[in-house]
Order: sequence, then structure tokens, then C-alpha cells
Amino acid sequence: MNEHVDHQTALAVAHRLAAGHLDGLRAQPVAHLRLPQAPRPPDGIGFDAAMALVAERIVPWLSASPGPRYLGYVTGGATPEAVAADWLVSAWDQNVSNAAGSIAADVEKQTVDAFRDVFGLADSMHGQFVSGATAANLVCIATAREWAARQSPLPPTVFAGSAHSSVLKAMSITGIGRSRLQAVATLPGRTAVDPVALEQALSAHTTGPAVVVASAGEVNTGDFDDLVRVAELCRRFGAWLHVDGAFGLFAAFDADLHGRIAGIGHADSVTVDLHKWLNVPYDSAIAYTSRPDLQREVFSASSAYLGDDPDPLHFTPENSRRFRAFPAWMVLATRGRRGIGEWVRTNCRLAREFAQSIGATGRFEVLGGVPLNIVSFALTDGGAAERDSFVQRLNASGETFMTPGQLFGRPTVRAAFSNWATDDRDLDRIVAAVAGSMAGPGQAP
Ligand SMILES: *Cc1c(COP(=O)(O)O)cnc(C)c1O
Repeated sequence: MNEHVDHQTALAVAHRLAAGHLDGLRAQPVAHLRLPQAPRPPDGIGFDAAMALVAERIVPWLSASPGPRYLGYVTGGATPEAVAADWLVSAWDQNVSNAAGSIAADVEKQTVDAFRDVFGLADSMHGQFVSGATAANLVCIATAREWAARQSPLPPTVFAGSAHSSVLKAMSITGIGRSRLQAVATLPGRTAVDPVALEQALSAHTTGPAVVVASAGEVNTGDFDDLVRVAELCRRFGAWLHVDGAFGLFAAFDADLHGRIAGIGHADSVTVDLHKWLNVPYDSAIAYTSRPDLQREVFSASSAYLGDDPDPLHFTPENSRRFRAFPAWMVLATRGRRGIGEWVRTNCRLAREFAQSIGATGRFEVLGGVPLNIVSFALTDGGAAERDSFVQRLNASGETFMTPGQLFGRPTVRAAFSNWATDDRDLDRIVAAVAGSMAGPGQAP
């Protein structure tokens, strides 16, 4: 038995398997709701037999989440150049923990700086690649906590209109504690923070430092906090401003949307995901902060020597680090702002058209508007049980995949458009799947 395989052969087999999968993305079921048990890895059956097992028992049960009709969460796919780059990252196998002996760390720095400029962040922002917006929020909240510790012995309070669950996770990991989140009212019918309520909350707050977490792209609606006003309040009240712009920062790629993130240049820290709307493979995000000195206090892994430009490992939770920057480098180099802006604009247009189509049926009500690429809608008739069976029927169709949510106290279904390849024909299929999944009159839910 030939247990070993050379790189050429392994890559050629992987190439065939991957190309077949990608070519079939539009034809496959978008998701599988009933799954068999996955095979345990056998104890050394050789490459050919192992790959045969993969083709038979794993590949058929993967989701088409990189495909154009997967609308769950905010997922994004992976462009051809991003997939090619990611393969090279694996082949090159660089450890970007430090800058010694390889250009990879400098490529990361150049990439982080290029995206900083594209997103309109302050020149002084210092960034690193991390595994996702959750890790980026952790880096940013940990840095804010370090800042707070220098202001006062009292623990910080975190103010937010709509905080993503990962912000609470970061507060928990950093020891701030989930209970130190103070929810601020949002504007009527929206998920954006009410600046007047934020002003009142900050002026009433007298016990310890304040950290404000603003949303640039709230997950249920894609709404934006008014960053100009929020930044003004943070300056006035001496608060740290963190902006979670996991996907909303991509407003920077479109002239009509760009105004939504005006004020981003005043943030003290910023999170942006790249495996979502940049359409690079998992996993990829950037954490930016204005205080690398404080960040280093938290994350430095050896106190013996830190130069003026210390290695990346001193700024992130990881020591060993994948060369995540390279797929992002390739997408920007290949498509440019204009090319990325095209799919951002198309996704937003398709979201608006989807909202219009389902609204016109009279069976659904779109909540919170469609300021960006996300549509949250409720059934006009029925509660959580009817919503659940609708989502079940819809996702079982294999035509699309959407996720349930909760907005303004109502059970909702959420569709997020973030794939580079989604087009008008995909939208037709999605709308038809929704129509085919509505419960008919008198039909049991
Ligand atoms: C997706 C998302 C996160 C978490 O990102 P991961 O990449 O899943 O870690 C955080 N904040 C917002 C606003 C998001 O949309």
C-alpha cells in the first residue's frame, strides 16, 4: 500500500476535488438539515483510500455556504484569487509570529495599512490579523481595559446600543465581566444607538472609566450608529470608542454608502472581518487600535526584549500565526476598491429587492429597514412556532439558507447578502423558495 504521497500528487487530487465542488456550488443543496455521522479518521489507510473516504462520506454533506444563495449569518464566499492565495498560504506555511527571515510579516503590515486607508481609519491606527471579528473585539476590548486601568482603579463600564454577542464574550474573557455592559436605548424602529440616550448615560456615569462600543453594521438590520455624534460624546466624556465594523466597514467601498461610517477616523479601536464581505476564506479579520503600547502590555509574550517595531506575536492572543494577510492582499490587488465595491453595491441592491418582493406578498413585514445588505422580516401572521416551521421548510428546500432571529421583540427570519457571486438569477430562485415555503391557507404550520 502506498501510504505516502508527494506534494504534486496530493495537490493534483485536491485540485480536482476542489474544482468539482466549486463548479457544483449553484447546483448543490445550500444546506443539509439531516446529517449522517462523520467518519472517524482511520489509523493510516494511505492517501488514496483516505481521499476516497472523504469523497464518499464528507464531501456530499458539506454546505454550499461559499455559494451565492447562502444567506445565513453574514457569511461571504471566497473569490477565485482568494482561494488560490489561501492554498499558497498553506503551501508556504510561514509562521508570522515574528519578522525574522521572511517577508511575510512585512506583507501583513503593508496589507493592514492598505486596508486602514481604504476604510478611512486614522493613520496612527496599528493593526494585526486575527482569526475573526470575535478575536478582534477581544484584542480591542482588552486594550480598552488596559487603558481604563490607567484611568482609575474602578472597573470600566461598557456602553452600547447594540452590542454583538462577541463583545460580551470579550468582556468575559478579559475579566471586565458581562454584567458591566450598560445597554443604551436605540432610535425608534432602528437598531442604531440613540445619541441623546447615550449622552444622558455618559453624563450620569460617575463611577469608573467608560468604554463605548459603537456598531458599524448591526447584525439584525445592518444599521449604523452615528459615529460622528458618538465620537463627539466620547471626546466630551473622556470615553474609549470601539467600533465593531465587522461587515459594515465595507460601506467604505461604495460612494453612496461611505457617509454611513463618517467619524470612523476618531475611533480608538476598530474591528473588521475579512472572511465576511471581503470574501476571503475562513478565517480572517483585522483588529486595529490607536494604542499599540497598551496592546503590547496585554499581549506581549516575552519581556526580555522588545524593540521599536516588535514582532506581531506581542499584539495578539496567538503566538504562532497563519499568513492570513495574503488572501486579503490578493483580493485588493486583483479587484481593487472598484471591484470590491461592485459586489458590495450588488449585495445591497439585491437585499432591497428581496425586501420589496417578500413585502409585496403581504405575508411578511420587513423590520428596521434595509440600510445595507441585511433583511430581517417577521411573518405578518403567526409567532415563533410559525416562524420556525417556515424557516424549516425554506432551508429544507435546499435553494437557500436563512437564520432565525429576534428583533424589536418579534421572531424574525434574517437574510444577509454578502457573497461576491450572488446575482439576479439567484435572487429569483431565493424569492421563489420563499413563496414555495409559505404555509397555504388552512395548512398546518
Ligand atoms: C460576525 C460578527 C462578529 C463576530 O465575527 P466572527 O468572525 O464570527 O468572529 C462580531 N461583530 C459583528 C458585528 C459581526 O457581524
